[in-house]
Order: sequence, then C-alpha cells, then structure tokens
Amino acid sequence: MTRTAFVLGAGMVGVSCALSLQKRGFAVTLIDRREPGQETSYGNAGVLARSSIVPLNNPGLYGKITSYLGNRHPALNLDWSRALTRPGWLLRFLWEARASKAAARIAALESLTGSTVERHRALMAEAGVSHRLRETGTLKLWRTEAGHAAAQAEHDFLKAHGIAAQVLDRQGISGVEPALKPIFHAGLLCLENASVDSPGAVTQAYAELFRQRSGRIEKADAQRLERGASGWRVATAQGGFEADIAVVALGPWSMDLLAPLGIDPKLDVERGYHRHFKAEPGARLSRPVYDVDAAYFMAPMEEGYRVTSGVDLSRRDAPDNHRQIDQVTVSAQEAFPLEDGFATTWRGARPTLPDSLPMIGEAPRHPGLWLAFGNQHLGFSTGPITGEIVAALVCGETPPVDPTPFAPGRYIG
Ligand SMILES: Cc1cc2nc3c(=O)[nH]c(=O)nc-3n(C[C@H](O)[C@H](O)[C@H](O)COP(=O)(O)OP(=O)(O)OC[C@H]3O[C@@H](n4cnc5c(N)ncnc54)[C@H](O)[C@@H]3O)c2cc1C
Repeated sequence: MTRTAFVLGAGMVGVSCALSLQKRGFAVTLIDRREPGQETSYGNAGVLARSSIVPLNNPGLYGKITSYLGNRHPALNLDWSRALTRPGWLLRFLWEARASKAAARIAALESLTGSTVERHRALMAEAGVSHRLRETGTLKLWRTEAGHAAAQAEHDFLKAHGIAAQVLDRQGISGVEPALKPIFHAGLLCLENASVDSPGAVTQAYAELFRQRSGRIEKADAQRLERGASGWRVATAQGGFEADIAVVALGPWSMDLLAPLGIDPKLDVERGYHRHFKAEPGARLSRPVYDVDAAYFMAPMEEGYRVTSGVDLSRRDAPDNHRQIDQVTVSAQEAFPLEDGFATTWRGARPTLPDSLPMIGEAPRHPGLWLAFGNQHLGFSTGPITGEIVAALVCGETPPVDPTPFAPGRYIG
C-alpha cells in the first residue's frame, strides 16, 4: 500500500523534503499558507555556499562581541529588552561558540554544504531552470590592508578542507569585477560556490516539479498538529489533512506548531533585510560579493542588485528595525555604482538553533513526526540534502551523510 506524508512548509527545505519522499514512493501533500518559496527562501542572497562551513557562533565571535554590543555595527543588532527577559537562547548560542565545539561543528556543516552545488545543478536541470544557476563563485572583499592576511588565512583554511579559492589583490579584484570601485585591498574568490538569480523562482520551480510528478500542493494555514487515527493530522483554516507521517519544515515558524505538543526545539531566529537597487548604466557584477568590513552581501538578481543585511536578534514578529539595512545601503553605494532609490525593504528570519546546525530527524516520543528546520544562514543551499536525509531516515536507508549531529534529541528530551 502507498504510504502517505504531509509536509508543512513549502520553502526550500519543505519542497526538498516533499521531492525526496515522493522519489521514494510516498504520496505527498505539501502544505503552505502562501505560494511555495515566498518567505525566507525568497528573500535570501541566493548563494549556494559550499565554502560556508564555519558557523556565525565560532570562537572568533568572542573577540568581536564588544564591538557589537552598542548596536552600532551593521553585522549585528541585539534587542536588549528581549535578550534580558529571555537570556537562555543567546547564552546557549554564545556557549556553543567555544573552541572545543568548532571542529565537529565545521565537519557537520561541511557534510551538508559539500554537495550543495551538484544537488541544485541536478534539480535545476530536472525543473527546467538551469539558466538561473551561475557557477561563477562568490567574492569576499576586505577594505583594509589587514584583509590580505585574513584572505590568505581563509584561503589556507578552505584548502585544508579541499575547497578551492583564490586570493586577490586590488588588481585581481578589478580583473574579476571591473565595476567595483577601487576601495578594496584584498579579495577571496570562492571558486566552488555558485548562485542563482532568483531563489524564490528556483524554489517555485522545484515545487512545480513536485506537482508535475503527481504531488499535491495545498494552500492552507496550519493551526494544530495532532496524532490521527493511523498517523498524523493537521488542522488548518481550510480543513484537516491526515497522513502516515508528518514533516514539519516551517522554517522560522516551526515552533508555533510544535509548542502545543510540548516540543521545544530551542529554535530562534536571526532576522535579516534586503533591498533591490538598479546599477548605473554599464555597471554589472558577475557574482555575489560579500563586503566583510561593512557586513553585507550584494547579489545580482532578476529584480536588480539585492543588498542583504546582517543579523537582527529581535523577536520574530517585532516591527522592522532598518538601522542595519540603512547602514549597508550606504556601504554598498560606496562599493558599486548603484542608483539611488529602492521600492521596498524586505524582512525575513533565518531559523537558527543554538549550535547553528539544523534539526533533521524524527521527534523524540512522537513516532511519525519528522523535523526539518533550523538551516540558519544556509537553508537555500542545504535544503536538498536536508530532504534526502529526512527521506532516507523515514525509509530506513543509510542517509547521504551522518545524521547524528542534526538529531532532534540533542535539544528535545
Ligand atoms: C537576508 C538573508 C540572506 C540569506 N542568504 C542565504 C544565502 O545566500 N544562501 C543560503 O543558503 N541561505 C541564505 N539564507 C538562509 C535561507 O534563506 C534560509 O535558511 C532558508 O530559506 C530556510 O528555508 P525554510 O524552507 O526552512 O523556510 P522558509 O523558506 O521560510 O519556508 C517556511 C514556509 O512555511 C510557511 N508557513 C509558516 N507558517 C505556516 C503555517 N502556519 N501554515 C502553513 N504554512 C506556513 C511559510 O509560508 C514558508 O513558505 C539567508 C537568509 C536571510 C534572511
């Protein structure tokens, strides 16, 4: 008999889970209150980040923290009132940055990012959107002389992990991106990264592939999860759905449906913003660039040049705080000839656990309830492998990578 599943959330992670379960013969219903790929999986920088194997909370964070605490640096905004009334998550996050945790954390992230480009390349070909993939790497840039040493150190670190990169001086930078203004002293071309020109459209194309393969997509606002007669049931504003297994892939909203079941995955969010700009005539970038000192990505997108901001540790649903995106707008205009003016400011929330690793696996004490969220800064890159891990575990297969570091039991008792 055909086994059934419903997947809650049609961002990159949920769509990938749906495709991977479908490939293994499940009849899958993918449920989202919006069209697929309209939230975090829309607004990101579109980088397929093979080289991002060091999480934000690494030992280096301790040295930088004092420069962040005054809420003046664009890399971080901290809502102090929230941090003080709910210090637990932040303290755990900082505690997880200690040196003794670094090697295992890096190995776990590397296991997820290692195949990101090949997995997306294959999916984009199947979904007919290969034209959206740019295999031109990403470029990291430093504004000061000290950048040379930083670029070289990162190059050597990546090389030790088998990841190719090239250190560039001023001349080298203008050789690969001639339209950048000559304000950068050093660069690192991360050759094995790739990017897309519309992460939302890519997510939608994967969802469409799922639909064409007889997948069912329902637009419904999930309100309550409960055990059903022979599996799981979700009540939505548009009616109930029942299946043998349920997958929660609601990104930054995952805790909303889990809390009533007594499940606290210690999930929080790192908010971020983006704006789109037009370039002055004749100016173009061939790849996303990251300005290390000013803390922003600028990525060429279908809609224009997307400038994304750093981490805003505020409540998920608190009103916007444009301090960081205003700062990086100025910095991006210093670096590249962007025209003045932007239509809107988008806000999203990276779903993050204290150890910066996603939660992938079956919920303890809740057989048939599968969790796939917490992909933090890397969920667009790591969605497809997350889906493969979930589906392999559901079917009792050996997953493509060791799932132990991502096990829900590390936070859920
Ligand atoms: C500024 C910024 C830049 C980033 N840049 C990159 C990058 O370059 N590369 C990279 O790999 N990652 C990047 N990320 C991270 C990445 O975007 C996320 O990790 C990823 O999109 C998370 O995907 P998801 O499927 O878990 O969540 P989402 O894409 O948010 O999907 C969750 C879905 O759940 C749905 N939903 C929520 N509640 C309900 C409900 N009650 N009922 C039904 N549906 C519901 C939502 O509508 C949504 O579609 C960035 C993030 C930000 C904010």
